[in-house]
Amino acid sequence: MDFRNYQDQLANIQTPCYVYDLNLLNKTLDACKKAADQFGFHVHYALKANVQPTILKAIQSKGFGADCVSGNEVRTAISAGFDQSKVVFAGVGKTDKEINMALAADIFCFNVESLQEIEVINELAKAQNKIAKIALRLNPNVNANTHHYITTGLAENKFGINFWELETVIDLIKNSLNIELIGLHFHVGSQINDLQVFKNLCAKVNEFIAWFDTRQLPLKVLNLGGGLGIDYHHPKENNLVNFQAYFELFHQFVQQKEGQEIHFELGRSLVASSGALLSRVVYIKEGIQTNFAILDAGMTDLLRPALYQAFHKIENLSKQQESISKKYDVVGPICESSDCFGKAVELPITTRGDLMVIYSTGAYGEVMSSNYNLRENANVLFLQ
Ligand SMILES: *Cc1c(COP(=O)(O)O)cnc(C)c1O
Repeated sequence: MDFRNYQDQLANIQTPCYVYDLNLLNKTLDACKKAADQFGFHVHYALKANVQPTILKAIQSKGFGADCVSGNEVRTAISAGFDQSKVVFAGVGKTDKEINMALAADIFCFNVESLQEIEVINELAKAQNKIAKIALRLNPNVNANTHHYITTGLAENKFGINFWELETVIDLIKNSLNIELIGLHFHVGSQINDLQVFKNLCAKVNEFIAWFDTRQLPLKVLNLGGGLGIDYHHPKENNLVNFQAYFELFHQFVQQKEGQEIHFELGRSLVASSGALLSRVVYIKEGIQTNFAILDAGMTDLLRPALYQAFHKIENLSKQQESISKKYDVVGPICESSDCFGKAVELPITTRGDLMVIYSTGAYGEVMSSNYNLRENANVLFLQ
């Protein structure tokens, strides 16, 4: 996404503003679909990354399914046109109300994360006279080597069922007449760029497949989760994820059985690169050691840097990139010290009113906005 090609459209832009590049989005979706189709893999889009209706429509129209983590996401996916037979519902804390809604909507599958949840789904399904299809979210104990806030696959984590609980869980399912076990589900974390992590996951998945095999418990679906990362450091040069290498790895290393479906739940890798946050410099504050560029966007618009020290590349679109540069802490206006988008960022000499871009904000950006400090929501613009 090179904004210098859009100078006219951006001249009078009201900032802060989320800008989405629909061409890049479609290119990304096509690349993912093409690579997955090759191996007969199914991809569900993880709605929590971005729920802009235009983006959901684009994703749905390419034939992706939907991975939801709340009742409202299930509802939103279905009203955006995702077929209910392609909607899965995950999450550690599904409430009775959410489960009832998803049962009534006849979704494809519940990814269940605890014994008690299975009991509750069984009861609620019985009351609705339905059979709930479930996949067990298993904890593969694979280290995602990512930030600890987005690592989910280690033992004693709030997510998933542990290996030592499996016998009990299977017994429970056998006695739950309104539950049908259709498969297994894994998700080890997010922003994973080291494919070795997924290779380790495959080894664990194979162990679980063997465990179910010896007990003659058939598995129709293996849901291998999401988590594929993007290159936040080179948003212009490297804006397309290598889906081919990702899917090929699973094709090579998972011991898939005849008739078994393999599913994925990708969020970030589908939408992150297509979005950017544009913001103007409100003030420059020169310090002794540090200069501050204070923006009209803050952590209420983009929380990732404050929440998990996430890196986003920042540029000044109003000045020539090559001109004399200086280091700035690029910060927001919110009354919190963590409201900082980047420390010691090398920028051209920057002045009040300059238009700044914070790249790769299409995932976990706008969806995490808040109105803290009674701030308004950022504007939204789609570039064609
Ligand atoms: C968040 C999440 C995903 C998507 O993760 P990405 O890193 O955005 O691909 C997939 N599955 C589950 C269960 C999740 O919680």
